[in-house]
Amino acid sequence: MKNFYEINPIINPANSIPLIKNIYINPYRLHNYTTKKIHKIRDNYFRKMIKYTYNTPVYQEIYKKSGINPSDIQGLEGIKKIPFIEKKDISRGYPNNILPKNYDHRKATKVCTSGSSGKPLNFYTDFITYSYSIGIFLRELKIYGLHWKNSRIAHIGNASPNKIDNVHEKYLKSKVNIINSLKNYIFINAFEPVNLIIKKLNEFKPDLIISYPATFQKLAYFIKRGEGNKINPRLLNVGGYILDKYTKNYVEDAFNCKMFNVYGSAESGGDIAFECMKGNLHINYDYYHIEVIDDKKRICDDGEQGQIVLTRLFGKATPFIRYTGLNDWVTLEQDHSCECGLNTPIIKNGIEGRANTSVILPDGRVFPSAAFDHVSTVLNDLNTHKIRQFQIIQKKLNVIKINLVVDNELRKGKPTISEIIKEIQSNYEKLVGPDIQIIIEEVDEIKSLPNKPSPLVIQLSNDKL
Ligand SMILES: [Zn+2]
Repeated sequence: MKNFYEINPIINPANSIPLIKNIYINPYRLHNYTTKKIHKIRDNYFRKMIKYTYNTPVYQEIYKKSGINPSDIQGLEGIKKIPFIEKKDISRGYPNNILPKNYDHRKATKVCTSGSSGKPLNFYTDFITYSYSIGIFLRELKIYGLHWKNSRIAHIGNASPNKIDNVHEKYLKSKVNIINSLKNYIFINAFEPVNLIIKKLNEFKPDLIISYPATFQKLAYFIKRGEGNKINPRLLNVGGYILDKYTKNYVEDAFNCKMFNVYGSAESGGDIAFECMKGNLHINYDYYHIEVIDDKKRICDDGEQGQIVLTRLFGKATPFIRYTGLNDWVTLEQDHSCECGLNTPIIKNGIEGRANTSVILPDGRVFPSAAFDHVSTVLNDLNTHKIRQFQIIQKKLNVIKINLVVDNELRKGKPTISEIIKEIQSNYEKLVGPDIQIIIEEVDEIKSLPNKPSPLVIQLSNDKL
């Protein structure tokens, strides 16, 4: 049998060295290295990235205006001198100014973000950048007690052209010679009909399933009906969208195993953070430097909620240094000694929602999506699994609509659907106050745009979905 890690000879050494390091060394750094050593690695990475970024026109223009010279930056302690880069800067630089001047364009693959945090964004990735995401993925497998040799992995992701999942999938197949020997990995398009996904999972019998909350929720309903009797994963990995408490509970109950969050984005090129077995969202801080800023772009104190700023410390193609375009609300704890044995910065309380998909009420209160979801809290408190899916939509500034999809087979018995609706109603009245109308309706299904899982909360400016 061929070695899983056998490298396809078409790759030149410049590409294969990062891949080999990301297979044999990098996944184990958080466990094996001292904090001091990791900081040294981060500083080295960062110095290289700054030089690389300085040759990228869109960054160069901004840096020159601020009088930044790469030789001034000796390590991450100097990051505060560097200006932020916004999503609109990358958009403006596409296609020619977001790659360094001497970069061989044939190596680049276009990536288009899903637009779940606003307008879609185009940028470039390449195989070197991808090889670091393999290191991150292998680290997560180790943490979850899985191994590529004997664990079967099903990834249910977005197979649309230029989506990051699809680009990574192509790299995996074309550049890393593992497909022949890696019989224990399958990629399934999340937007195939559910019965087809169930059929594939039944045949494949995965140990680990990776997907979106909405996809898991749909699958969970059919598994509860007994349709996935050969699907017995050891654990589930969920990412891409906010996971609410009810969905987590519902899906874990259906699959009879634990579900863990991973947090990443197309721009990060890999998972920025992963949830450990003790429930903490650890940052892969040897791969990323994460900062949090307030609405005036000041750095937040440790433990203070703000918007995430991403610095990807590795890779080529389009760099992301002090990038504010992810728009997620987070709270950092810089130094956390976790019971799992890892000592890394963590994202406290998980990802709280996208800043530009927050619900804003007439009195000026702002709720990140996760904070505006009280439906899952009510359903958990009532200890019911009668609701297959729900969505909260701000129709007007003072009108909130909540759609519920009821599981017909569980309709009878306590609590009744009208009791559930009444409870959600009174909970929201308490939350938003008397001036806002709450409409709760039972619907047959929750529609989403093609090739995009439906979000939990749709705020006013986004209600054309
Ligand atoms: Zn931990």
